[in-house]
Amino acid sequence: MQIQEPIGTLFSFDNSFARCLQSFYVSSKAAASPAPKLIQFNHNLAEELGLEPSMFTPKVGSDIFSGNIIPEGAEPLAQVYAGHQFGGFNPQLGDGRALLLGEVIDTLGLRRDIQLKGSGQTPFSRSGDGKATLGPVLREYLIAESMHALGIPTTRALAAVTTGEEVNRERPLPGAILTRVAASHIRIGTFQFFAARDDTDKVRQIADYSIARHYPAATNVDNPYLCFFKSVTESQAALIARWMSVGFIHGVMNTDNMTVSGETIDYGPCAFMDTYSAQTVFSSIDTHGRYAYANQPSILSWNLARLAETLIPLVNSDKGIAIGLLTDAVQDVRRVYETHWLNAMRLKIGLRTKNPSDLDLINDLLSLMEDSHTDFTLVFRHLSKFLLGDNSTVLQQFGLSASFDDWLQRWQNRLKLEEGRPETHALAMDRINPIYTPRNHKVEEALSAAVNHNDMKPFSRLLEVLSHPFDEVEGQEEYSIPGPQLNAPYQTFCGT
Ligand code: AMP
Ligand code: MG
Repeated sequence: MQIQEPIGTLFSFDNSFARCLQSFYVSSKAAASPAPKLIQFNHNLAEELGLEPSMFTPKVGSDIFSGNIIPEGAEPLAQVYAGHQFGGFNPQLGDGRALLLGEVIDTLGLRRDIQLKGSGQTPFSRSGDGKATLGPVLREYLIAESMHALGIPTTRALAAVTTGEEVNRERPLPGAILTRVAASHIRIGTFQFFAARDDTDKVRQIADYSIARHYPAATNVDNPYLCFFKSVTESQAALIARWMSVGFIHGVMNTDNMTVSGETIDYGPCAFMDTYSAQTVFSSIDTHGRYAYANQPSILSWNLARLAETLIPLVNSDKGIAIGLLTDAVQDVRRVYETHWLNAMRLKIGLRTKNPSDLDLINDLLSLMEDSHTDFTLVFRHLSKFLLGDNSTVLQQFGLSASFDDWLQRWQNRLKLEEGRPETHALAMDRINPIYTPRNHKVEEALSAAVNHNDMKPFSRLLEVLSHPFDEVEGQEEYSIPGPQLNAPYQTFCGT
């Protein structure tokens, strides 16, 4: 028997979910990892969480983040939820390959979940093995951290370990576990699980908990549950608007993958668009394009309608009145989204004030981008270069086009209504339009080196570049340009 060195207190856990919501989870434990190895640790995030990074030595990190040792104060549990997957309702889902270790209060006073993903079977695994493989774990790590650096609400990646075990997929692959940090893991599907069982008390319980944790302002108002719904709408609409503004396609916007906190969660077949085309789909299983780029706002409304349904008995004791109130709120989702979207897009072209002509200006730019097959990310950087007197790159993207010339003229006229000089607008644009996004070929290159050649260098380098997405650095051109045009469109696969 191996004698374990005592480990000091690593986390100051305060597990409100375990304490308050007994019927919402099953206690469970991680499968043993034969030879865990810490391959990635997020120093900055650890500090933000109030942890002491130096305590996470390779040995301690491997033991803790593989789940081989349960840290003091943790109460590992698998949460239950349901969900609409590609439009079809599944009444019984849950953490089939994840364990919530517990919650910590971070240095800003925010409560954060610490979760292992890929830690083995739980009572909710159905036919799955509860495991994750290295490629998808590193993909989630990279994209989550990139989204964070872009300023988009997201779960974070604290650590990645390989388990020393081979996991059977299309071929045997190295097993791995991601340690994920989230504002919470409460999903629309968490509400649906109890609503589908007509358990109104439980729906009220999770709504009260969610209000206390995420939307305390909804506590002392006339109708807290309606206010809760509108607050979730605000957060999720703001989130999807941000996705749209950077060309991010989530790929599986099932209701079990949408948090009530409004953080992006469950990075599976997601990817960033290179060439702009509104109907872009990357996921191999999204055969009908349900979660295509341009459909994301409609799916936002559809998903929120599913949340609204669960809240009917809470919003008013008269069902008709409740349905009326919630229907109005659901019908308002599109407007809320469009307000966020228009604001985000305005900033992308240097506009800080509002003008009735802005919507047409932005939509016309997007049409021109689609017609000219421009790169979604680079166009906005090239537009700022244009303001600085360099029109070569933007003209390269659009070619010689009278309609684009006309658009440039309209845009410059519109900018004259803003305060400040063109240089100021260009600078402001470069602070919100990234130069470095996770380019698909670069992500694949980094994952392939790690999985097939045990080489983490390309991953580390890419992670580093993506942590400064707005600062153009000489010598990093390969990270800012799209990959070679392939014969077949880029495809992503579900990360199981
Ligand atoms: P996802 O589509 O990745 O969000 O997962 C949908 C559901 O399938 C969730 O309940 C997951 O916990 C479960 N699941 C996904 N992969 C596995 C796996 N390898 N083993 C067990 N459950 C899984
Ligand atoms: Mg999921």
